[in-house]
Amino acid sequence: MILTDTHTHLYSEAFDEDRQLVIERAVAEGIERFFIPAIDSTYTKAMLELETNNPERIFLMMGLHPTHVKENYLNELQHVEEMLAKRKFYAVGEIGIDLYWDKSFLKEQQEAFRFQIQLAKKYNLPIVIHCRDAFDEVFEVLEREKGEGLFGIFHCFTGTLEQAKKAMSYNMKLGIGGVVTFKNGKIDRFLNQVPIENIVLETDSPYLAPTPYRGKRNESAYLVNILQRLSEVYRMDEKVIARITTENSKQIFGI
Ligand SMILES: [Zn+2]
Repeated sequence: MILTDTHTHLYSEAFDEDRQLVIERAVAEGIERFFIPAIDSTYTKAMLELETNNPERIFLMMGLHPTHVKENYLNELQHVEEMLAKRKFYAVGEIGIDLYWDKSFLKEQQEAFRFQIQLAKKYNLPIVIHCRDAFDEVFEVLEREKGEGLFGIFHCFTGTLEQAKKAMSYNMKLGIGGVVTFKNGKIDRFLNQVPIENIVLETDSPYLAPTPYRGKRNESAYLVNILQRLSEVYRMDEKVIARITTENSKQIFGI
């Protein structure tokens, strides 16, 4: 059984004490592939180090996270553009719109999102979308950019069935993580109406730990708790879900 964590911030300070152990614990559970979303340029060095230390397991993305779109966002976008030109990345992410923390940079967030989608198209890469309290705004951008070259993952999907269908209509797969294990998470009620071919697994660690670790530091090994819950929701064998969702991740990331 090979599982793929399509979204983990393994370079985060939260793992400074035990990063290699965290990776080993995950590998022991069958999680063998880790896709690493970017946040901003201050983390680039740590991401590259992580890859150097684990060249066969770590696959990096490049992008500017919407909550880090601030006054200096043009410099940050330039960094993204330069890094993409310089070496191989597996996606442009995480990018999108977040109106939960701060609405004051909405215009800049929209502009950064659109610019980075265009970079992804240029390099024929998938995008990994972060969307919080901003479904309408995200869909508005996707509507303008839809069509050939637009594909990727709607990371940490927490919307309705209707929103899931809309995301899939833009060639997005749904990234499913800890929320599916929460009692009030809601998505477990309709997820079995979304074909498993449109699902990938993720932890978003160190954030959003699944039950029974809710509130604690999350790590990739807990992907098995998410898998277990999905197996109940879909009434499918865990091994089958592992195989299909890893296959889905290969389709998106090209590896
Ligand atoms: Zn993330």
